[in-house]
Amino acid sequence: MGVVADVLNSRTRLTLAVAVALIGVAALGGVYLKASLAVSAAFVAALMLWRPARTLPWRLATVAACLWAVEEIAWAFQRLGGTALPAVTDVTYYLGLAGWLAALLLMPGKRLPPSLLVAAVPAVGLLVWLLLLDVPSSLALGFPVFETVLVLASLPLLGGTMVGGASEGRVLVALSFYLRALGAGSFAWLAVPTSDTGAQFLWLLSYTTLALGVQLELDDQHTDYLPIAVAVTSLQLVSAALLLVLFKLGVLEDPYALVIVSLLTYVQLAVVLLVLVTSRANQVVAERELRAWTRLLNPVIDVRPHGTAIAHILDDTVRLVPNAQGIELHQHGRAGTFGGYQYPLVADGTEIGRLHLTRKPQRSSVLDTCAPILASRLLLLGDRDKWATAAFTDPLTELLNRRGLEARAGLLVGQAKADGKPISVAMLDIDHFKRVNDVYGHGVGDDVLRALAGVLRAQLRPSDQAVRWGGEEFVLVLPGTDAEQAADVLRRVRHELGAALLKPVAWPLAVSVGIAGSAGPPRAEEELGRLVEAADAALLVAKREGRNRIVLAGTL
Ligand code: GH3
Ligand code: MG
Ligand code: MG
Repeated sequence: MGVVADVLNSRTRLTLAVAVALIGVAALGGVYLKASLAVSAAFVAALMLWRPARTLPWRLATVAACLWAVEEIAWAFQRLGGTALPAVTDVTYYLGLAGWLAALLLMPGKRLPPSLLVAAVPAVGLLVWLLLLDVPSSLALGFPVFETVLVLASLPLLGGTMVGGASEGRVLVALSFYLRALGAGSFAWLAVPTSDTGAQFLWLLSYTTLALGVQLELDDQHTDYLPIAVAVTSLQLVSAALLLVLFKLGVLEDPYALVIVSLLTYVQLAVVLLVLVTSRANQVVAERELRAWTRLLNPVIDVRPHGTAIAHILDDTVRLVPNAQGIELHQHGRAGTFGGYQYPLVADGTEIGRLHLTRKPQRSSVLDTCAPILASRLLLLGDRDKWATAAFTDPLTELLNRRGLEARAGLLVGQAKADGKPISVAMLDIDHFKRVNDVYGHGVGDDVLRALAGVLRAQLRPSDQAVRWGGEEFVLVLPGTDAEQAADVLRRVRHELGAALLKPVAWPLAVSVGIAGSAGPPRAEEELGRLVEAADAALLVAKREGRNRIVLAGTL
């Protein structure tokens, strides 16, 4: 019960306490049972009146609960020796029944499956037949039939429980109707006319369960299934124990009906408990799975630099997705280990890769919903990377273009800054390149540009960056290098270029170079822009002074 106390709110705990008290008093039997039954029905009505419902079904249910309270009070009056009031008991019973039936049928989103209505046809037929046979004596047999119809109408409330969606309150309301039907059944078939203790006890249990149900539902309180199941079972256990003790003490008579009634109650309680626990367990697993997927899919726009985003998502997938051991994309890489159960990742109708799970998923609704989102995310990121690469790359030389340098500037400056070293920029322009085009055509001109890019790639360290600035102008960024060292590199480049035989160009290719370097480690990204400007100015000087040379700008 400790679990229950933690989860249920104070009103629900109070309702539970009243229910236990009513059962305790009722177990004393005789007058106490008769009175408790009336009080339990009145308790349900009071609860519903106290928390006025806003929707039509629950308003109808409130009226019905009040009618049944009046009915039970009239019955108690009769049972305790007062005069019989058949007009009151009958009218309130039937109107209450109609009220609950209407309420159950009008509950939003809980349509009664037509197949269940078909199932009610034999029951109603039996009732009509019995009534035609012998009105007074068959009336008792009519009650279980009416109550069965009520149980059928309340079954859709339980429907959601199977998939973990029904609220606990509704489950209890449905359960209470089942208990009522059991009471009516035991009254009609089991009880001797002089004693209906067992039936009365079941009706009392039905009202206390209904009280708990409406309390939870009207309070819109959603608790764990388990505490509610524990609460209801405890309620039943308390009542069973009390009945047993009082029977042994000789306070109660009619043991046969009580035993059957208790057995029936426990069988159905066990079923409900099983459903609740299974449903809860499924829900917990699904929730955990969903949380993991949400963590994976949450960043709507991945802010990581292009190229690394996909690798990160692949790693995260293996780490976060339940039972994932690996993931492979047909185009963009892989992570984890392969084998086990393969789940296709489909986006835009094509399989883009596979998720490798340690085993076949038992329930795959979360997986079926989330995997396509992951697939389309990966597809989009792949496209984004493709276009980003295209936007930053010069298609002719496959070097970075000017936009690419802008994107990379922070990284290059950061590198020199972290190493505590200067950074240099060289701007390089092919001398009289126009002549190559004019003499040999643009195709050869393009070949020369590609060859120059090749020489640059061969001469630079991996940390350096060659950029096609535009036309036949190139920028080299050399982190960790001062202007003098940069000049050495460019001398080598010029030498290699002069030595390279760029067929069919008949003359050695000459380039003019302007170089600018920072005095110490760069402080900010903008410094790179100033170095480029200075190198450009130095290049202009080199051209003006007769080309085919290197000019150093003063250190900045
Ligand atoms: P300078 O020594 O003063 O630099 O003379 P230059 O002829 O090299 O310079 P200019 O700016 O007069 O001409 C550059 C030429 O580069 C003009 C243009 O047609 C050519 N060019 C620019 N981009 C490309 C290209 O992608 N392919 C080819 N084949 N030629 C290009
Ligand atoms: Mg030129
Ligand atoms: Mg030029």
